[in-house]
Amino acid sequence: MPDCCSCSDVFQYETNKVTRIQSMNYGTLKWFFHVIVFSYVSFALVSDKLYQRKESVISSVHTKVKGIAEVKEEIVENGVKRLVHHVFDTADYTFPLQGNSFFVMTNFLKTEGQEQRLCPEYPTRRTLCSSDRGCKKGWMDPQSKGIQTGRCVVFKGNQKTCEVSAWCPIEAMEEAPRPALLNSAENFTVLIKNNIDFPGHNYTTRNILPGLNITCTFHKTRNPQCPIFRLGDIFRETGDNFSDVAIQGGIMGIEIYWDCNLDRWFHHCRPKYSFRRLDDKTTNVSLYPGYNFRYAKYYKENNVEKRTLIKVFGIRFDILVFGTGGKFDIIQLVVYIGSTLSYFGLTLKYVSFVDESHIRMVNQQLLGRRLQDVKGQEVPRPPVDFTDLSKLPLALHDPPPTPGQPEEMQLLREEVTPRPRDSPVWCQCGSCLPSQLPESHRCLEELCCRKKPGACITTSELFRKLVLSRHILQFLLLYQDPLLALDMDSTNSQLRHCAYRCYTTWRFGSQDMADFAILPSCCRWRIRREFPKSQGQYSGFKSPY
Ligand code: GDP
Ligand code: ZN
Ligand code: ZN
Repeated sequence: MPDCCSCSDVFQYETNKVTRIQSMNYGTLKWFFHVIVFSYVSFALVSDKLYQRKESVISSVHTKVKGIAEVKEEIVENGVKRLVHHVFDTADYTFPLQGNSFFVMTNFLKTEGQEQRLCPEYPTRRTLCSSDRGCKKGWMDPQSKGIQTGRCVVFKGNQKTCEVSAWCPIEAMEEAPRPALLNSAENFTVLIKNNIDFPGHNYTTRNILPGLNITCTFHKTRNPQCPIFRLGDIFRETGDNFSDVAIQGGIMGIEIYWDCNLDRWFHHCRPKYSFRRLDDKTTNVSLYPGYNFRYAKYYKENNVEKRTLIKVFGIRFDILVFGTGGKFDIIQLVVYIGSTLSYFGLTLKYVSFVDESHIRMVNQQLLGRRLQDVKGQEVPRPPVDFTDLSKLPLALHDPPPTPGQPEEMQLLREEVTPRPRDSPVWCQCGSCLPSQLPESHRCLEELCCRKKPGACITTSELFRKLVLSRHILQFLLLYQDPLLALDMDSTNSQLRHCAYRCYTTWRFGSQDMADFAILPSCCRWRIRREFPKSQGQYSGFKSPY
């Protein structure tokens, strides 16, 4: 009967059952996989250096561009065109920029002798006019170069444009010169100084080491550590042509990657340089291709303020420094080993005895010695968090017993609980019972609440109040899920599991430990007697991972 919302569906509890198979094939297969996984885990540990603590690099960059270019400029003087030769040095073609960037001018457009007066706009579709009616006094928009006076005046020949009050003459709407005026900038070189720091590892270094020959030029294979780069070479590395980019300008990324191994024996901390074109080389004319900006040089002539406006095209170099430094760290190694051990059934487990003040950490194989006899490592008990106890007083008084219930329970107990007189040899408290698990896993449950003979923890008042009280357990279950339906049969499992957790949090404190804490046999069976399972075997401890 397919009824997806029936009560029996909701209150189902799934659990694993361990089956042991004696088989040559399965056994071989198991070991085969173990070996594969073990090899992989070891390989990953070494190749990815998972035993290291990694830290990102912090860096500072300083650059110096060098080179001389000769520029042939065409200037118009009194209506006569004339070619002049200009020598450009570093101060002429580099501009200070913010951050890890530098700029090299490769091309420019000059508008000389501008002063504040009235003149016609440069003719475009937007500014052409035929009479004063086409212009509007006081009008300006983001595209215009000045404020319109409302008159339509002659620009040149029979071309008329609106007159503006602006820096005159107005800059012409010209294409960038081809070839680029500073085409020879490809022979410029840049020296990059990069200091780096891994503060967590207390390590600093730089890309230029004291002994480095400073007359070199970077080459990917022949001279990969040289910090001096020829601009043309950078573009060749990314497959671009410097002369093409120089016309409109562009943005180039210089990446410095530090992959540092700071362990003494394998110490290695040298940068790797690579390059990446950062602007979009496919954008068309309407989307403002390249990289350019304007700047002006101001001067006074006959007491009139004048300026030379220069539209500069060039290449912005962005230096991006990234990378990590790793150093051996015992915690990383332990975490990695711990996370892989669980595959082999080798999880860490915690054990606590009433007659000892510390907790024991046991790194025991599933198929090993009985837990009671494993020595383990002593770890201090975490301090009690008393805020957790604050909700307990609410529930600490047991309610009066419900009539009719005890007899029913008694019946169930007799069925599943082995008799106490079977108290095994390893038990020190007299209340433990043999484990129900298959023989190979049995040793995991062979644990008493005591190391030396004495009274059992289950006889204590607190055990009864904190672990066995149905009232408290119900309270805790409802605390997690306020609308939980608590009826007798189906919730016994939940109450039982909740009781296990009450015991482990009580005795182990920290949740990390509680998840891997093993209950002594006496407590386990005392809880199971209180909240029994009506049929089948109990599955016992399962690793949360
Ligand atoms: P089940 O109810 O038939 O599955 O069997 P159990 O009564 O043994 O309960 C199994 C659940 O309790 C699993 O989630 C186990 O991880 C948990 N559990 C059982 N024994 C221990 C233990 O010794 N320590 C911890 N931390 N959890 C346990
Ligand atoms: Zn015992
Ligand atoms: Zn005991």
